[in-house]
Amino acid sequence: MKIAIIGSGPAGFYTAEALLKTFEAAEIDLIECLPTPFGLVRYGVAPDHQSIKNVAKAFEKTALRPGVRFFGNVAVGKDASIRELLDLYDAVVLATGAPKDRRMGIPGEDLANVVGSAAFVGWYNCHPDHVDLMLDLDVEAVAVIGVGNVALDVARLLAKNAEELARSDIAPQAADALARSSIRDIYVIGRRGPLEATFTPQELKEFGELQDAEVLVDPAQLPETAECVPDEERTAKKKNLAILQDYAKTRGNGDGRQKRVHFLFYRRPAEILGDEMVNAITLERTTVDDSGKVSGTGEMITLDCGLVVPCIGYKTTPLPDVPFDAEDGHFKTKEGRIERGLFAAGWARRGPTGTIATNRADGQAVARQIEESCTPNPEKRGRAGLEKLLQARNVEIISFTDWQLIDEAERAAAEGPAPRRKFTSVDEMIHAAHGEEEEEK
Ligand code: NAP
Repeated sequence: MKIAIIGSGPAGFYTAEALLKTFEAAEIDLIECLPTPFGLVRYGVAPDHQSIKNVAKAFEKTALRPGVRFFGNVAVGKDASIRELLDLYDAVVLATGAPKDRRMGIPGEDLANVVGSAAFVGWYNCHPDHVDLMLDLDVEAVAVIGVGNVALDVARLLAKNAEELARSDIAPQAADALARSSIRDIYVIGRRGPLEATFTPQELKEFGELQDAEVLVDPAQLPETAECVPDEERTAKKKNLAILQDYAKTRGNGDGRQKRVHFLFYRRPAEILGDEMVNAITLERTTVDDSGKVSGTGEMITLDCGLVVPCIGYKTTPLPDVPFDAEDGHFKTKEGRIERGLFAAGWARRGPTGTIATNRADGQAVARQIEESCTPNPEKRGRAGLEKLLQARNVEIISFTDWQLIDEAERAAAEGPAPRRKFTSVDEMIHAAHGEEEEEK
Protein backbone atom coordinates (compact mmCIF):
# COMPACT_ATOMS: atom_id res chain seq x y z
CA MET A 1 0.00 0.00 0.00
CA LYS A 2 1.39 3.42 -0.96
CA ILE A 3 0.00 6.26 1.13
CA ALA A 4 0.76 9.98 1.17
CA ILE A 5 -0.08 12.00 4.27
CA ILE A 6 -0.13 15.76 3.76
CA GLY A 7 0.97 17.51 6.94
CA SER A 8 3.35 16.27 9.63
CA GLY A 9 1.65 17.55 12.77
CA PRO A 10 -0.11 15.37 15.34
CA ALA A 11 -2.85 14.25 12.92
CA GLY A 12 -0.28 13.28 10.28
CA PHE A 13 1.93 11.35 12.68
CA TYR A 14 -0.93 9.56 14.46
CA THR A 15 -2.28 8.55 11.04
CA ALA A 16 1.16 7.21 10.06
CA GLU A 17 1.37 5.31 13.35
CA ALA A 18 -2.06 3.71 12.81
CA LEU A 19 -1.27 2.84 9.17
CA LEU A 20 1.95 1.10 10.22
CA LYS A 21 -0.14 -1.11 12.52
CA THR A 22 -2.79 -1.76 9.87
CA PHE A 23 -0.52 -2.55 6.91
CA GLU A 24 2.54 -4.69 7.35
CA ALA A 25 4.54 -3.31 4.45
CA ALA A 26 3.15 0.12 3.72
CA GLU A 27 5.11 2.90 2.03
CA ILE A 28 4.08 6.00 3.95
CA ASP A 29 5.24 9.45 2.85
CA LEU A 30 4.69 12.42 5.14
CA ILE A 31 4.65 15.53 2.96
CA GLU A 32 5.19 18.84 4.76
CA CYS A 33 5.38 22.37 3.35
CA LEU A 34 7.96 23.51 5.94
CA PRO A 35 11.42 21.94 6.27
CA THR A 36 10.50 21.07 9.88
CA PRO A 37 8.14 18.32 11.10
CA PHE A 38 5.61 18.24 14.01
CA GLY A 39 3.30 21.11 12.95
CA LEU A 40 1.27 22.32 15.92
CA VAL A 41 3.69 20.75 18.40
CA ARG A 42 6.47 23.03 17.16
CA TYR A 43 4.46 26.10 16.14
CA GLY A 44 1.20 25.96 18.13
CA VAL A 45 1.97 24.59 21.60
CA ALA A 46 3.09 27.46 23.84
CA PRO A 47 6.88 27.86 24.10
CA ASP A 48 6.68 27.67 27.92
CA HIS A 49 4.84 24.31 27.77
CA GLN A 50 7.89 22.25 26.86
CA SER A 51 6.59 19.05 28.49
CA ILE A 52 3.68 18.93 25.99
CA LYS A 53 6.26 19.08 23.18
CA ASN A 54 7.76 15.77 24.39
CA VAL A 55 5.21 13.99 22.19
CA ALA A 56 7.58 14.84 19.31
CA LYS A 57 9.89 12.07 20.60
CA ALA A 58 7.20 9.48 19.82
CA PHE A 59 6.61 11.09 16.41
CA GLU A 60 10.34 10.92 15.71
CA LYS A 61 10.30 7.16 16.33
CA THR A 62 7.48 6.84 13.79
CA ALA A 63 9.40 8.94 11.25
CA LEU A 64 12.40 6.62 11.60
CA ARG A 65 10.39 3.40 11.15
CA PRO A 66 11.09 1.40 7.97
CA GLY A 67 8.58 2.33 5.29
CA VAL A 68 8.16 5.94 6.46
CA ARG A 69 9.71 8.92 4.64
CA PHE A 70 9.54 12.62 5.45
CA PHE A 71 9.29 14.99 2.46
CA GLY A 72 9.90 18.41 4.02
CA ASN A 73 9.77 21.71 2.13
CA VAL A 74 7.18 20.35 -0.33
CA ALA A 75 4.02 22.44 -0.67
CA VAL A 76 1.01 20.48 -1.89
CA GLY A 77 -1.08 22.71 -4.13
CA LYS A 78 2.11 24.39 -5.43
CA ASP A 79 4.87 21.80 -5.89
CA ALA A 80 2.47 18.91 -6.49
CA SER A 81 -1.31 18.87 -6.86
CA ILE A 82 -3.77 16.64 -5.06
CA ARG A 83 -4.72 15.07 -8.43
CA GLU A 84 -1.07 14.21 -9.10
CA LEU A 85 -0.75 12.64 -5.66
CA LEU A 86 -3.95 10.64 -6.17
CA ASP A 87 -2.44 9.32 -9.43
CA LEU A 88 0.74 8.28 -7.60
CA TYR A 89 -0.60 6.82 -4.34
CA ASP A 90 -3.25 4.26 -3.31
CA ALA A 91 -4.48 6.70 -0.67
CA VAL A 92 -3.90 10.35 0.24
CA VAL A 93 -4.70 11.75 3.69
CA LEU A 94 -5.06 15.49 4.29
CA ALA A 95 -3.75 16.26 7.78
CA THR A 96 -3.08 19.93 7.14
CA GLY A 97 -4.48 21.28 10.42
CA ALA A 98 -6.19 24.65 10.68
CA PRO A 99 -3.60 27.41 10.30
CA LYS A 100 -5.88 30.38 9.49
CA ASP A 101 -7.69 32.71 11.88
CA ARG A 102 -11.46 32.86 12.04
CA ARG A 103 -12.85 36.36 11.82
CA MET A 104 -15.16 37.99 14.35
CA GLY A 105 -17.09 39.83 11.63
CA ILE A 106 -17.22 43.16 13.48
CA PRO A 107 -16.25 46.70 12.38
CA GLY A 108 -12.62 47.64 13.01
CA GLU A 109 -11.27 44.11 12.68
CA ASP A 110 -8.73 45.20 10.05
CA LEU A 111 -7.14 47.99 12.11
CA ALA A 112 -3.43 47.74 12.85
CA ASN A 113 -2.65 45.81 16.07
CA VAL A 114 -5.69 43.53 15.73
CA VAL A 115 -3.90 40.22 15.39
CA GLY A 116 -5.59 36.81 15.37
CA SER A 117 -4.17 34.03 17.51
CA ALA A 118 -2.83 32.03 14.52
CA ALA A 119 -0.57 34.96 13.62
CA PHE A 120 0.18 35.94 17.23
CA VAL A 121 1.03 32.39 18.34
CA GLY A 122 3.05 31.93 15.13
CA TRP A 123 4.92 35.14 15.96
CA TYR A 124 6.03 34.10 19.44
CA ASN A 125 6.68 30.52 18.25
CA CYS A 126 8.96 31.73 15.41
CA HIS A 127 6.83 30.43 12.52
CA PRO A 128 8.51 31.66 9.30
CA ASP A 129 5.16 33.05 8.04
CA HIS A 130 4.58 35.17 11.16
CA VAL A 131 7.96 35.92 12.67
CA ASP A 132 8.04 39.38 11.06
CA LEU A 133 4.51 40.32 12.14
CA MET A 134 4.12 44.08 12.53
CA LEU A 135 3.14 44.54 16.15
CA ASP A 136 3.27 47.58 18.39
CA LEU A 137 3.69 46.47 22.00
CA ASP A 138 4.15 50.00 23.27
CA VAL A 139 0.57 49.78 24.57
CA GLU A 140 -0.74 49.53 28.12
CA ALA A 141 -3.80 47.32 27.67
CA VAL A 142 -4.54 44.25 25.56
CA ALA A 143 -7.91 42.62 24.87
CA VAL A 144 -7.66 38.86 24.39
CA ILE A 145 -10.94 37.65 22.91
CA GLY A 146 -12.15 34.15 23.84
CA VAL A 147 -11.86 31.96 26.90
CA GLY A 148 -10.34 28.79 25.46
CA ASN A 149 -6.85 27.43 26.07
CA VAL A 150 -5.37 29.45 23.21
CA ALA A 151 -6.60 32.66 24.86
CA LEU A 152 -4.95 31.53 28.09
CA ASP A 153 -1.68 30.76 26.27
CA VAL A 154 -1.67 34.26 24.74
CA ALA A 155 -2.60 36.02 28.00
CA ARG A 156 0.01 34.05 29.97
CA LEU A 157 2.78 34.81 27.47
CA LEU A 158 1.88 38.51 27.64
CA ALA A 159 1.94 38.39 31.46
CA LYS A 160 5.21 36.51 31.98
CA ASN A 161 8.53 38.23 32.59
CA ALA A 162 11.86 37.42 30.91
CA GLU A 163 12.96 35.15 33.74
CA GLU A 164 9.76 33.11 33.47
CA LEU A 165 10.31 32.72 29.72
CA ALA A 166 14.01 31.85 29.93
CA ARG A 167 13.40 28.08 29.82
CA SER A 168 11.07 28.37 26.84
CA ASP A 169 11.87 28.29 23.11
CA ILE A 170 10.07 31.58 22.45
CA ALA A 171 11.23 33.41 19.32
CA PRO A 172 14.11 35.69 20.42
CA GLN A 173 12.57 38.77 18.76
CA ALA A 174 9.25 38.09 20.54
CA ALA A 175 11.03 37.70 23.88
CA ASP A 176 12.79 41.05 23.34
CA ALA A 177 9.59 42.81 22.24
CA LEU A 178 7.66 41.47 25.24
CA ALA A 179 10.43 42.45 27.66
CA ARG A 180 10.41 46.01 26.25
CA SER A 181 6.60 46.29 26.06
CA SER A 182 4.52 48.70 28.14
CA ILE A 183 1.72 46.17 28.70
CA ARG A 184 0.11 46.44 32.13
CA ASP A 185 -3.49 45.23 31.75
CA ILE A 186 -4.50 42.05 29.94
CA TYR A 187 -8.24 41.47 29.58
CA VAL A 188 -9.38 37.91 28.82
CA ILE A 189 -12.90 38.32 27.47
CA GLY A 190 -15.58 35.62 27.27
CA ARG A 191 -18.86 36.18 25.47
CA ARG A 192 -20.46 33.58 27.76
CA GLY A 193 -19.95 32.76 31.44
CA PRO A 194 -17.30 30.96 33.51
CA LEU A 195 -19.11 27.61 33.24
CA GLU A 196 -19.20 27.84 29.43
CA ALA A 197 -15.50 28.72 29.17
CA THR A 198 -13.54 26.00 27.33
CA PHE A 199 -10.21 26.54 29.08
CA THR A 200 -9.03 23.72 31.32
CA PRO A 201 -8.13 23.81 35.05
CA GLN A 202 -4.44 23.05 34.64
CA GLU A 203 -4.02 26.00 32.27
CA LEU A 204 -6.19 28.33 34.39
CA LYS A 205 -4.22 27.48 37.51
CA GLU A 206 -0.95 28.70 35.99
CA PHE A 207 -2.16 32.30 36.34
CA GLY A 208 -1.91 31.98 40.12
CA GLU A 209 1.80 31.24 39.74
CA LEU A 210 2.78 34.30 37.68
CA GLN A 211 5.63 36.30 39.19
CA ASP A 212 4.70 39.78 37.97
CA ALA A 213 0.95 39.66 37.38
CA GLU A 214 -2.06 39.52 39.63
CA VAL A 215 -5.33 37.97 38.49
CA LEU A 216 -8.58 39.86 38.83
CA VAL A 217 -11.99 38.20 38.69
CA ASP A 218 -15.27 39.90 39.61
CA PRO A 219 -16.96 37.61 42.16
CA ALA A 220 -20.36 38.86 40.97
CA GLN A 221 -19.72 37.07 37.64
CA LEU A 222 -19.19 33.68 39.26
CA PRO A 223 -22.05 31.22 39.85
CA GLU A 224 -22.14 29.50 43.23
CA THR A 225 -21.94 25.96 41.91
CA ALA A 226 -21.32 24.01 38.74
CA GLU A 227 -24.02 21.44 39.51
CA CYS A 228 -26.06 22.46 36.44
CA VAL A 229 -23.27 21.38 34.07
CA PRO A 230 -23.75 18.04 32.22
CA ASP A 231 -22.07 15.06 33.95
CA GLU A 232 -19.24 14.59 31.46
CA GLU A 233 -17.99 18.17 31.87
CA ARG A 234 -18.84 18.78 35.52
CA THR A 235 -15.53 17.79 37.13
CA ALA A 236 -13.48 20.14 34.96
CA LYS A 237 -15.97 23.02 35.27
CA LYS A 238 -16.09 22.62 39.06
CA LYS A 239 -12.31 22.88 39.15
CA ASN A 240 -12.37 25.95 36.90
CA LEU A 241 -14.96 27.57 39.13
CA ALA A 242 -12.99 26.84 42.32
CA ILE A 243 -9.85 28.39 40.78
CA LEU A 244 -11.76 31.49 39.63
CA GLN A 245 -13.39 31.81 43.06
CA ASP A 246 -9.96 31.67 44.61
CA TYR A 247 -8.69 34.41 42.26
CA ALA A 248 -11.76 36.52 43.04
CA LYS A 249 -11.10 36.19 46.78
CA THR A 250 -7.35 36.62 46.83
CA ARG A 251 -6.78 38.90 43.84
CA GLY A 252 -4.85 36.08 42.21
CA ASN A 253 -1.36 36.06 43.57
CA GLY A 254 -1.51 39.34 45.44
CA ASP A 255 -1.94 42.96 44.45
CA GLY A 256 0.63 45.61 43.73
CA ARG A 257 2.23 43.70 40.88
CA GLN A 258 3.32 45.29 37.62
CA LYS A 259 0.71 43.58 35.47
CA ARG A 260 -2.91 42.60 35.89
CA VAL A 261 -4.83 39.82 34.12
CA HIS A 262 -8.56 40.56 34.23
CA PHE A 263 -11.10 37.82 33.43
CA LEU A 264 -14.23 39.43 32.01
CA PHE A 265 -17.23 37.24 31.26
CA TYR A 266 -20.59 37.97 29.58
CA ARG A 267 -19.10 40.52 27.17
CA ARG A 268 -19.03 40.13 23.41
CA PRO A 269 -17.01 42.26 21.02
CA ALA A 270 -19.18 44.71 19.08
CA GLU A 271 -16.67 47.08 17.46
CA ILE A 272 -12.97 47.82 17.47
CA LEU A 273 -12.20 51.53 17.53
CA GLY A 274 -9.22 53.53 16.25
CA ASP A 275 -7.93 55.54 13.28
CA GLU A 276 -5.23 53.37 11.80
CA MET A 277 -4.39 51.50 14.96
CA VAL A 278 -6.79 50.13 17.55
CA ASN A 279 -7.25 52.29 20.64
CA ALA A 280 -10.36 50.75 22.20
CA ILE A 281 -12.90 47.98 21.90
CA THR A 282 -16.64 48.20 22.46
CA LEU A 283 -18.13 45.21 24.24
CA GLU A 284 -21.80 44.34 24.62
CA ARG A 285 -23.01 42.85 27.87
CA THR A 286 -24.62 39.43 27.29
CA THR A 287 -26.82 36.88 28.99
CA VAL A 288 -26.71 33.11 28.54
CA ASP A 289 -29.82 30.90 28.65
CA ASP A 290 -30.09 27.37 30.09
CA SER A 291 -29.11 25.84 26.76
CA GLY A 292 -25.90 27.91 26.70
CA LYS A 293 -27.12 30.28 23.97
CA VAL A 294 -25.79 33.83 24.21
CA SER A 295 -27.86 36.99 23.64
CA GLY A 296 -26.84 40.64 23.66
CA THR A 297 -28.49 43.03 26.13
CA GLY A 298 -27.71 46.18 24.14
CA GLU A 299 -25.68 47.58 27.04
CA MET A 300 -22.23 48.63 25.81
CA ILE A 301 -18.95 49.31 27.55
CA THR A 302 -15.79 50.65 25.93
CA LEU A 303 -12.44 49.35 27.02
CA ASP A 304 -9.27 51.28 26.13
CA CYS A 305 -6.70 48.94 24.60
CA GLY A 306 -3.92 49.19 22.05
CA LEU A 307 -3.80 45.54 20.99
CA VAL A 308 -6.62 43.06 20.33
CA VAL A 309 -5.87 39.34 19.97
CA PRO A 310 -8.95 37.35 18.91
CA CYS A 311 -8.43 33.71 20.01
CA ILE A 312 -11.72 32.45 18.65
CA GLY A 313 -10.72 29.41 16.62
CA TYR A 314 -9.07 28.45 13.35
CA LYS A 315 -9.81 27.42 9.78
CA THR A 316 -8.17 24.94 7.44
CA THR A 317 -6.64 26.29 4.20
CA PRO A 318 -8.72 25.03 1.25
CA LEU A 319 -7.01 23.11 -1.57
CA PRO A 320 -7.97 23.27 -5.25
CA ASP A 321 -10.38 20.46 -6.26
CA VAL A 322 -11.10 19.40 -2.67
CA PRO A 323 -14.65 20.00 -1.34
CA PHE A 324 -14.54 22.51 1.51
CA ASP A 325 -17.05 23.50 4.18
CA ALA A 326 -16.48 27.26 4.22
CA GLU A 327 -18.85 27.79 7.15
CA ASP A 328 -17.06 25.40 9.53
CA GLY A 329 -13.64 25.94 7.93
CA HIS A 330 -12.57 22.35 7.19
CA PHE A 331 -12.72 19.82 4.33
CA LYS A 332 -16.10 18.25 3.60
CA THR A 333 -15.89 14.57 4.47
CA LYS A 334 -18.13 11.63 5.20
CA GLU A 335 -16.59 10.43 8.45
CA GLY A 336 -13.16 11.36 7.14
CA ARG A 337 -13.61 10.15 3.54
CA ILE A 338 -13.67 12.82 0.85
CA GLU A 339 -13.68 10.71 -2.33
CA ARG A 340 -12.19 7.45 -3.55
CA GLY A 341 -8.64 7.35 -2.18
CA LEU A 342 -8.80 10.78 -0.51
CA PHE A 343 -9.29 11.24 3.24
CA ALA A 344 -8.88 13.90 5.93
CA ALA A 345 -7.79 13.61 9.56
CA GLY A 346 -7.46 15.86 12.60
CA TRP A 347 -8.46 19.54 12.51
CA ALA A 348 -8.62 19.45 8.69
CA ARG A 349 -11.42 16.91 9.10
CA ARG A 350 -13.35 18.03 12.17
CA GLY A 351 -12.30 21.58 13.01
CA PRO A 352 -10.01 22.96 15.73
CA THR A 353 -11.02 21.15 18.90
CA GLY A 354 -9.49 18.66 21.29
CA THR A 355 -6.03 17.96 22.59
CA ILE A 356 -3.06 16.58 20.65
CA ALA A 357 -4.01 13.06 21.73
CA THR A 358 -7.51 13.42 20.24
CA ASN A 359 -5.83 13.02 16.86
CA ARG A 360 -4.82 9.45 17.70
CA ALA A 361 -8.41 8.21 17.33
CA ASP A 362 -8.70 10.18 14.07
CA GLY A 363 -5.60 8.45 12.72
CA GLN A 364 -6.98 5.04 13.68
CA ALA A 365 -10.33 5.82 12.03
CA VAL A 366 -8.65 6.87 8.78
CA ALA A 367 -6.45 3.78 8.78
CA ARG A 368 -9.58 1.60 9.14
CA GLN A 369 -11.28 3.43 6.28
CA ILE A 370 -8.25 3.02 4.04
CA GLU A 371 -8.14 -0.68 4.90
CA GLU A 372 -11.83 -1.06 4.05
CA SER A 373 -11.95 0.99 0.86
CA CYS A 374 -8.52 0.93 -0.83
CA THR A 375 -6.60 -1.88 -2.46
CA PRO A 376 -2.94 -1.70 -3.47
CA ASN A 377 -2.52 -0.95 -7.15
CA PRO A 378 0.86 -2.07 -8.52
CA GLU A 379 0.67 0.60 -11.20
CA LYS A 380 0.85 3.42 -8.66
CA ARG A 381 4.42 4.68 -8.55
CA GLY A 382 4.23 6.15 -5.05
CA ARG A 383 7.44 7.52 -3.57
CA ALA A 384 9.59 6.95 -6.67
CA GLY A 385 7.04 8.85 -8.74
CA LEU A 386 6.87 11.74 -6.28
CA GLU A 387 10.66 12.05 -6.17
CA LYS A 388 10.80 12.16 -9.96
CA LEU A 389 8.04 14.76 -10.15
CA LEU A 390 9.67 17.00 -7.52
CA GLN A 391 13.09 16.65 -9.09
CA ALA A 392 11.69 17.78 -12.44
CA ARG A 393 10.29 20.86 -10.68
CA ASN A 394 13.55 21.61 -8.85
CA VAL A 395 11.95 21.23 -5.45
CA GLU A 396 14.50 20.87 -2.69
CA ILE A 397 13.30 17.98 -0.53
CA ILE A 398 14.27 18.15 3.14
CA SER A 399 14.58 14.61 4.56
CA PHE A 400 14.18 13.59 8.20
CA THR A 401 17.98 13.36 8.44
CA ASP A 402 18.18 16.96 7.17
CA TRP A 403 15.65 17.95 9.84
CA GLN A 404 17.79 16.27 12.50
CA LEU A 405 20.66 18.53 11.43
CA ILE A 406 18.41 21.58 11.69
CA ASP A 407 17.27 20.37 15.11
CA GLU A 408 20.88 19.92 16.27
CA ALA A 409 21.85 23.40 15.04
CA GLU A 410 18.90 24.97 16.86
CA ARG A 411 19.77 23.17 20.10
CA ALA A 412 23.41 24.19 19.78
CA ALA A 413 22.39 27.85 19.34
CA ALA A 414 20.26 27.89 22.55
CA GLU A 415 21.22 30.47 25.15
CA GLY A 416 21.10 29.87 28.92
CA PRO A 417 18.44 27.38 29.99
CA ALA A 418 16.44 27.65 26.72
CA PRO A 419 16.05 24.28 24.97
CA ARG A 420 16.67 25.71 21.48
CA ARG A 421 16.90 28.89 19.44
CA LYS A 422 14.58 28.41 16.49
CA PHE A 423 15.55 29.48 12.99
CA THR A 424 13.37 32.30 11.75
CA SER A 425 13.32 31.56 8.02
CA VAL A 426 13.07 28.59 5.67
CA ASP A 427 16.36 29.66 4.03
CA GLU A 428 18.16 29.49 7.37
CA MET A 429 16.75 26.03 7.99
CA ILE A 430 17.81 24.74 4.58
CA HIS A 431 21.22 26.30 5.04
CA ALA A 432 21.61 24.56 8.41
CA ALA A 433 20.74 21.23 6.82
CA HIS A 434 23.28 21.79 4.03
CA GLY A 435 26.00 23.34 6.16
CA GLU A 436 26.19 20.32 8.38
CA GLU A 437 25.99 17.95 5.43
CA GLU A 438 28.85 19.69 3.67
CA GLU A 439 31.00 19.55 6.80
CA GLU A 440 30.30 15.83 7.09
CA LYS A 441 31.35 15.27 3.47
P1 NAP B 1 -11.86 26.99 21.89
O1 NAP B 1 -11.61 26.21 23.11
O2 NAP B 1 -12.97 26.56 21.00
O3 NAP B 1 -12.09 28.50 22.35
C1 NAP B 1 -12.56 29.49 21.46
C2 NAP B 1 -13.11 30.64 22.28
O4 NAP B 1 -13.47 31.68 21.38
C3 NAP B 1 -14.38 30.29 23.05
O5 NAP B 1 -14.35 30.95 24.31
C4 NAP B 1 -15.49 30.86 22.16
O6 NAP B 1 -16.66 31.23 22.87
C5 NAP B 1 -14.80 32.11 21.67
N1 NAP B 1 -15.41 32.66 20.46
C6 NAP B 1 -15.66 32.03 19.29
N2 NAP B 1 -16.18 32.88 18.39
C7 NAP B 1 -16.28 34.08 19.02
C8 NAP B 1 -16.73 35.36 18.63
N3 NAP B 1 -17.20 35.59 17.39
N4 NAP B 1 -16.69 36.37 19.53
C9 NAP B 1 -16.21 36.15 20.79
N5 NAP B 1 -15.75 34.96 21.22
C10 NAP B 1 -15.78 33.94 20.34
O7 NAP B 1 -10.58 27.03 20.93
P2 NAP B 1 -9.07 27.44 21.16
O8 NAP B 1 -8.83 28.13 22.43
O9 NAP B 1 -8.70 28.07 19.86
O10 NAP B 1 -8.35 26.02 21.24
C11 NAP B 1 -8.43 25.07 20.17
C12 NAP B 1 -8.23 23.67 20.75
O11 NAP B 1 -6.87 23.51 21.13
C13 NAP B 1 -9.06 23.44 21.99
O12 NAP B 1 -9.55 22.14 22.00
C14 NAP B 1 -8.07 23.67 23.10
O13 NAP B 1 -8.39 23.03 24.32
C15 NAP B 1 -6.79 23.12 22.49
N6 NAP B 1 -5.62 23.71 23.15
C16 NAP B 1 -5.11 23.05 24.22
C17 NAP B 1 -4.05 23.60 24.92
C18 NAP B 1 -3.50 22.88 26.13
O14 NAP B 1 -3.92 21.77 26.40
N7 NAP B 1 -2.61 23.48 26.88
C19 NAP B 1 -3.51 24.82 24.53
C20 NAP B 1 -4.05 25.48 23.42
C21 NAP B 1 -5.12 24.90 22.74
P3 NAP B 1 -17.97 30.28 22.81
O15 NAP B 1 -17.65 29.12 23.68
O16 NAP B 1 -19.02 31.15 23.33
O17 NAP B 1 -18.15 29.88 21.36
